[in-house]
Amino acid sequence: MKKRIAILGSTGSIGTQALEVIDRFNSFFEVEVLTAYNNVQLLIEQAIVYQPNAVVIANSDKYSLLAEALRNHPIKIYAGTDAIEQVVKMESIDIVLAAMVGYSGLIPTINAIEAGKEIALANKETLVVAGEMITRLARENKVNIIPVDSEHSAIFQCLVGEQGSLEKVILTASGGPFRGRSRKYLEKVTKDEALRHPTWSMGAKITIDSATLMNKGLEVIEAKWLFGLLPEQIDVVIHPQSILHSMVQFTDGSIKAQMGLPDMKLPILYAFSYPERIKSDFSRFSFADYPELNFESPDIGSFPNLFLAYEAMRAGGTMPCVLNASNEIAVDAFLNDRIGFYGMSSIIEKTMDRVTIVKTPGLSDYRDADKEARLFAETLIP
Ligand code: MN
Repeated sequence: MKKRIAILGSTGSIGTQALEVIDRFNSFFEVEVLTAYNNVQLLIEQAIVYQPNAVVIANSDKYSLLAEALRNHPIKIYAGTDAIEQVVKMESIDIVLAAMVGYSGLIPTINAIEAGKEIALANKETLVVAGEMITRLARENKVNIIPVDSEHSAIFQCLVGEQGSLEKVILTASGGPFRGRSRKYLEKVTKDEALRHPTWSMGAKITIDSATLMNKGLEVIEAKWLFGLLPEQIDVVIHPQSILHSMVQFTDGSIKAQMGLPDMKLPILYAFSYPERIKSDFSRFSFADYPELNFESPDIGSFPNLFLAYEAMRAGGTMPCVLNASNEIAVDAFLNDRIGFYGMSSIIEKTMDRVTIVKTPGLSDYRDADKEARLFAETLIP
């Protein structure tokens, strides 16, 4: 039987690559639900090609456009964020791919877990914000969370067959477009320079996060929750070629790495096919083509966001939620030319100092912390 997949965020970078994977392996997978935030044209095209059971557009203003374009197709059409939160519970869904951007992925992911759906998780912010709650709910509902983020997919793959002898994980980072640059240089960089990622092709938010190393910081917190780690069990190493996708070190000192060419379709396929592997014709890595693979320590002086993420993880409670919310505001302001590169770090740091932290939060505490952090961060933008 084919696995029926709901893609939350189907018009984004991960969503479109997931559809390519489903296309290429269509004897194994089929599209059950597609949801998009605002890109109604692409959603219509996707719906016509993949004929899902249901589509949802988060922006309700686009509902009539969507309904009109799909009126001759047997597809259920919904609009609004409430509809996305509900549609994940649909009986016929086997796997929910959470590929929305930012905080918006939280409630749909919680609902999908409570409905017993397997989760392919590409939305790292969900675990950053509410990792304790998400991983607890997954345990209680006996639901697998299979990471799609390449580093966490690597760690997940390294841990298959292992039993509790993990000493630490080592997350690799490409270093982004500004690796090796000084503070003086970074003070003046533009968003266009920041959007030029050397190895990975991704959406705008995550590409900026890669340039500031906040992406790695969020991934450190994501790893803490996915693999039940202490802060001191998570290291980061810069590896510009993005061939080693991350490593696990075991208590006997042995290290396992998962490797391959940088292509998000691989971790997407693994998340969909787990626990099996499916034969693919993806390009193979050749060691002879890479006579040198390089590694170096991250430069916290030039990239303070990575330090701020470790601080938020150590503080715990709602602090990672505050980190994430203020970062979303800061990245948006940078993309709109309202602040410079270090304006982002400054907003995050000031917001973390200011917002009240709840030590053992429930869902409403996350919601409040997210809102308060966003409002305060906004006031810091000139
Ligand atoms: Mn990643």
